[in-house]
Amino acid sequence: MRVAGIVGALLIGGLNVASSQVNISNADEPSLYSYCQRFQTLYTQIRVQSVTPDSARKEFSRIMNELQTRFRSSETYHQDSLQRDSLQRTGHYFTFPIRGYTTSAIGGTHGEGYRGTGFDLFDYNVRGSHPAQDIFIRDRNQDNVDDLTGKPVDILAMSSGLVLAIETAWKPGSEYRGGNWIWVYDPIMNGLFYYAHNSQVDVTPGQWVQTGQKIAEMGRSGFNAYKARSPTHLHLMYLQIQPDGLPLPLNTYTWLLKAKLSK
Ligand SMILES: [Zn+2]
Repeated sequence: MRVAGIVGALLIGGLNVASSQVNISNADEPSLYSYCQRFQTLYTQIRVQSVTPDSARKEFSRIMNELQTRFRSSETYHQDSLQRDSLQRTGHYFTFPIRGYTTSAIGGTHGEGYRGTGFDLFDYNVRGSHPAQDIFIRDRNQDNVDDLTGKPVDILAMSSGLVLAIETAWKPGSEYRGGNWIWVYDPIMNGLFYYAHNSQVDVTPGQWVQTGQKIAEMGRSGFNAYKARSPTHLHLMYLQIQPDGLPLPLNTYTWLLKAKLSK
């Protein structure tokens, strides 16, 4: 149940400070966890359409601008950005998000599964775009278990960041398209990673995850992903936050090609 997850995260204290990046303390400022709560609330409101796309856009941009300001004010931000630049040059910034798999698991032959046009995060009725890469596993009998290893398949964080929101309440029959998903905010890139269709979510909002850390197990959760015609896959989306705080989907294909593989 989601309430249990939130209480659990509060007990943990919002952030497991595994990185110096999140070592920000100012008693007057809202906790990082409060941003997670606002994001989770907003995302739920968008899904049930209890907020207009316009108000959703405004609240989203407020949350993202405040979050970015918080991280930018941390002492190590500049150093972390430099490190990011050098890691991106060598191609080691990202971890391939599926343990035991390589780039051949990416849908299509040249990542052409990505269709960014027409995407609107704030309007649940807008359909047709697919600003994401789908990455597939060997699961012919669709039991969420790798046909070769006989084990569930781990979903790994592509980069380090703050877990902003999760969904764990999806059940077969639920309409929600993303199923059980995770949003992770990478403050160095100022962007959001979205991992959807998981069978199991292993992180809670407010938690800091390192690149390559297990965050979930792959599944078939989601209205369409659950259907027999859909092969078992991870739906991976990245949204770059613009200077106005609004999201722009980017194609992760070239990042995936260079990403570090995990056995
Ligand atoms: Zn997809």
